[in-house]
Amino acid sequence: MNKTLEIKNLNVSIDEKPILKDFSLTIPKGEVHALMGPNGTGKSTLAKVLAGHEDYKVDGGEVLLDGESILGVEPDEISRAGLFLAFQYPLEIPGVSIANFIRAALTARISEDEKFDAPKYYRALYEKMDLLKIDRKFTARSVNEGFSGGEKKRCEILQMAMLDPAYCVLDETDSGLDIDALKIVSNGVNLMRGEDKGMLVITHYQRLLDYIIPDAVHIMWDGAIVHSGDKELAKELESRGYDWVKNELVDTAV
Ligand code: ADP
Ligand code: MG
Repeated sequence: MNKTLEIKNLNVSIDEKPILKDFSLTIPKGEVHALMGPNGTGKSTLAKVLAGHEDYKVDGGEVLLDGESILGVEPDEISRAGLFLAFQYPLEIPGVSIANFIRAALTARISEDEKFDAPKYYRALYEKMDLLKIDRKFTARSVNEGFSGGEKKRCEILQMAMLDPAYCVLDETDSGLDIDALKIVSNGVNLMRGEDKGMLVITHYQRLLDYIIPDAVHIMWDGAIVHSGDKELAKELESRGYDWVKNELVDTAV
């Protein structure tokens, strides 16, 4: 089986405006790729299209999860197929506790004749919460309701750790985190890394990549990847800024 998340020549528009323009990227299992780019370049659009968000119109291209197309597939089915998206702006779900929310997602993944092992579930939940330094009182709170920016991001990583997806897309999980929370979240992500996982870490800043060392770094500009390299590329971007990418592109275009 082809063990990759493969995005091929993806074209996506919103209200007739092209956002992703022939975007291509392959993330093999076992690797962590970072996607960096200025605001408005289409990073979140990419993440949401991968997760099956309905607001976006796919004009062409392919997205293959282990060789199977996931374009046009319902979000919950994509999630069950093994792709998890941690949102840049996590939604609040009033009236649904974190414990019940994650439990429902896990229950949807087992066959009908299988019994949900509640004690085992709570042991695993508490273990991950301790790891992410989330107070146990949070299990009874409604998902993201009244959470600070950092608490929402930690809650996303908790969901990810519990669902244990084959592919993870983290959309600016570092935004809104102070340095301590950033270390905790990065530690959680690093513990999940492994041969059976592919990760796409979307970030605007290099800072996160001091803690989550990527196997590859891609720079996105105006809906497509314009540079790829190793972790040093992120450092170069940090010191030279996004203008460097822009100027270099303008130079090469002349
Ligand atoms: P990034 O995550 O890189 O900052 P986004 O994917 O959020 O970029 O946005 C890319 C472009 O698409 C921006 O010009 C943004 O205004 C536009 N866009 C994103 N989502 C919507 C939407 N739901 N409706 C209209 N325009 C949108
Ligand atoms: Mg974004």
